[in-house]
Amino acid sequence: MTSHSPVVITDRALLCDRGFIDGVWLAASKTFAVHNPASGVELAQVADFGPTETTAAVAAAAHAQPAWAARTAKDRSAILRRWFELIVAAQDDLAAIMTAEQGKPLAEARGEVLFGAAFIEWFGEEAKRTYGEVIPSPVRGRQLLALRQPVGVVAAITPWNFPNAMITRKAAPALAAGCTFIVKPAPETPLSALALAVLAERAGVPLGVFNVIPTTRASEVGSVLTEHPLVRKFSFTGSTAVGKLLMAQCASTVKRVSLELGGNAPFLVFDDADLDAAVVGALASKFRNAGQTCVCANRFLVQSSVVDSFTRKLAVAVAALTVGDGMTPGVVQGPLISERAVQKVERLVADATAQGARVVCGGARHALGGTFYAPTVLAGVTPAMTIAREEIFGPVVTIIPFADDADAIAMANDTPFGLAAYAYTRDLARAWRVAEALEYGMVGINEGIISTELAPFGGIKESGIGREGARQGIDEYLEIKYVAMGGLGG
Ligand code: ADP
Repeated sequence: MTSHSPVVITDRALLCDRGFIDGVWLAASKTFAVHNPASGVELAQVADFGPTETTAAVAAAAHAQPAWAARTAKDRSAILRRWFELIVAAQDDLAAIMTAEQGKPLAEARGEVLFGAAFIEWFGEEAKRTYGEVIPSPVRGRQLLALRQPVGVVAAITPWNFPNAMITRKAAPALAAGCTFIVKPAPETPLSALALAVLAERAGVPLGVFNVIPTTRASEVGSVLTEHPLVRKFSFTGSTAVGKLLMAQCASTVKRVSLELGGNAPFLVFDDADLDAAVVGALASKFRNAGQTCVCANRFLVQSSVVDSFTRKLAVAVAALTVGDGMTPGVVQGPLISERAVQKVERLVADATAQGARVVCGGARHALGGTFYAPTVLAGVTPAMTIAREEIFGPVVTIIPFADDADAIAMANDTPFGLAAYAYTRDLARAWRVAEALEYGMVGINEGIISTELAPFGGIKESGIGREGARQGIDEYLEIKYVAMGGLGG
């Protein structure tokens, strides 16, 4: 790494500009620039890998896999524990790298580093609990067993919005299960991925078990990862459009797939809700990462009788949010990731206001310029508007009134997506009815932040397949093998 990189950290070795294959740091004939979205400053020129390096990574991962799987679970667990501890110890540096390349406020970046590390801790422990079954036999002299074995080589493609945790929550269960792993991080945020590889190496993760392919050639590298016969499982987090394409590519070799795709999260506020608590939850759900998460509330469905008071309270809180460079203390909203992201938000807001939505606060780029967008509240949004149908991925609250519970549920479910949903109510029976009726993989009742390594994260409908985290998360990386053992006498 060039010594004049503008990222200020203690352990300079964490800043890498090469890819990592088979335990070797490799340069490439071409490089690509990584920029700080807050300032536009170039942070690094990173190796731009292609299909040749990707194929080499698959071969390395395939070669390393049997020996990795043959180690005891306790042994793999100990290595994962070391990786976890090294990440926790390096949290300040990892957070600084993340804020520099991704833009989120430093405190949020540190939160993600610890959240990401928690998956390594959790799955390191779960490695020891991948129990099989002994099935009562229908005949004497025979034993029926169900073993759980690693799938094999796992390939992953991850997004820029969580440059660390979207990798660890795939890599940790994969490695715990005895799989080997190749990740193609997003071209906006390869530095966080490469820093994880440095710490994996220090933790004693063996050669070829964890590989990182930095690249701008997403579709070429993606073709190798989804079509190579030695890759047995593909895991993706990103947009629904790309996820569908990659799922289709995986069909040619019938790979196992896990997909964590887009959402259109409803945030329901009922007339009996604690409105102040709902405002706190709304801020947490909507403005984390400047609205750039797949579980960010996208539509605020508010019962008509409380819509004015909720909107007023929320707008006061939103207008008080401090926007700026994520490195500046006190900043709670950084820049959006790119000019394209800002243009999308502008297009959605312009379309909504042209159709009658009212700007309560914000509604335009922030005075800081660049890719900063003002925290925004739009009232009088209707379900038919594009802003209520597409994932905004920006700091914009859309308020849509509803009449009664049936109306709210119908509106909430009227989308092809089904990732996260939120509801605020103090009525226990209503909370239960609503939680059951929402067609979503995850529901937060009186909670705006629900992600944890302990619970199964994932979507239904076009939001995805499979679960990440929790006891269930490791199942994605295990096959079940039935063994009928006869000739046992008796
Ligand atoms: P976003 O719009 O949030 O960047 P994407 O789905 O485009 O979401 O990106 C998520 C990840 O998918 C990134 O790592 C990106 O490089 C990768 N990606 C995008 N297009 C393709 C493709 N055609 N094939 C493989 N990977 C892709």
